[in-house]
Amino acid sequence: MAEIKQEKFEKVLTKYVDEDGSATLEFYRGHGGYEAAERVLKEMKPGEVIEAVKESTLRGRGGAGFPCGVKWSFVPKETDKPKYLVVNADESEPGTFKDRVLMERDPHQLIEGSIISAYAIESHVCYIYIRGEYYDAFLTMQKAIDEAYEAGILGENVLGTGFRLDMTMHRGAGAYICGEETGLLSSLEGKRGLPKIKPPFPAVEGLFGCPTVVNNVETLSCVTHIFDRGVDWFKSIGPPEGPGPKLLCVSGHVERPGTYEVPMGINLLDLVNDYAGGVWKKRKLKAIIPGGTSAKILTAEECDVGMDYESLAAKDTMLGSGGVIVMDEKTNMVNALYNILRFYAHESCGQCTPCREGTGWLAKICGRILHGTGRMEDLDLMIDLAQKMCGRTICVLADAAAFPCESIVRKFRLEFYAKINAGAGHERDIHTGGPLVQPGALSAHNQERLDELRGGH
Ligand code: SF4
Repeated sequence: MAEIKQEKFEKVLTKYVDEDGSATLEFYRGHGGYEAAERVLKEMKPGEVIEAVKESTLRGRGGAGFPCGVKWSFVPKETDKPKYLVVNADESEPGTFKDRVLMERDPHQLIEGSIISAYAIESHVCYIYIRGEYYDAFLTMQKAIDEAYEAGILGENVLGTGFRLDMTMHRGAGAYICGEETGLLSSLEGKRGLPKIKPPFPAVEGLFGCPTVVNNVETLSCVTHIFDRGVDWFKSIGPPEGPGPKLLCVSGHVERPGTYEVPMGINLLDLVNDYAGGVWKKRKLKAIIPGGTSAKILTAEECDVGMDYESLAAKDTMLGSGGVIVMDEKTNMVNALYNILRFYAHESCGQCTPCREGTGWLAKICGRILHGTGRMEDLDLMIDLAQKMCGRTICVLADAAAFPCESIVRKFRLEFYAKINAGAGHERDIHTGGPLVQPGALSAHNQERLDELRGGH
């Protein structure tokens, strides 16, 4: 973690991550750890905890940004079934690596937030579903859980309050779709990680058919501090619709890539320039994907925007997982999109036709443009396909592929045309197999489309 401009904002979630021994129970307790959980369990009723989190306006940090306290309130009070808390630690959105920092460097912060959250929804079993590739984080978390059991922080009598909570780690096997909550729950049940249609929502019918809350690592870590420093403190940071400290992962063409803790709503250009050292090699900024590859891209001119839910929505994109991917002026946007689309085509679970076929075809069409055999009409075909995939599938993976596709093709259309133009000599006549036009030249139809575009249509 770079120490740039941090004096402007007091780090909370990552305050201790650079210190030796920060993952140990001794260190955590030495810095006031578990005091908030003890106070909550001794002095508050579960319903009061839910109300406090609602009042804080904490929104989920995993991608969807749903209000955390509202989600908890959906769990039925009167039920004979067990209730589950599941920590979504399957961080796999491209460009996102913040939860790993929290788990590897401050695991007790997450355990404390999970204890408070489990108490709020009256759950006695918590699973942490962790991305399989995060082996170091898994070992660190498991060690912290073992320490917590030994110290009476987990188990039959949590912190001497009489509350019972068991916590178990579960490693994923490398499927992106298991980061989607219903896919995650299927996988946790020992089945293929297939997402399910909602409703019913997991809060009512989740793990093993029982009420389940699925929360992200950063979200639960925020819960710890809401009860340590107070709801008013939390609400004082950033915009009222979704306040609090925020971890953003900056990657791509910057001088200092990394995870940065910032106040919600920080200007995107300030994040890139002041924290991440600016665009590398003194090059110009071309574009930024602000919230993981599922988010719509912003051109350089659109990047003067607050990094919060509402401001980004106003620019027709989203905060998503907080994965900020910076692209410099030399970035080949066709190549970048092909890379993204191949990922989603590979990760589609295949249940829904618009997703299974759509992601595959988008990747195939983009690939042929990249490799010099594209056609002008491919661009409208990609946009049409992307639009027809959105909102028509079981989960949002189809939308996750469609959003970057449509936005990149629309905003960088000339670059796609240039690729098609350069490869025009490779266009084949379907009857003769021979080239349709001379290399570098455009067919009459393609030339017409390009003229239209240059004419501002
Ligand atoms: Fe599977 Fe894609 Fe359908 Fe999601 S949208 S359930 S990933 S096929």
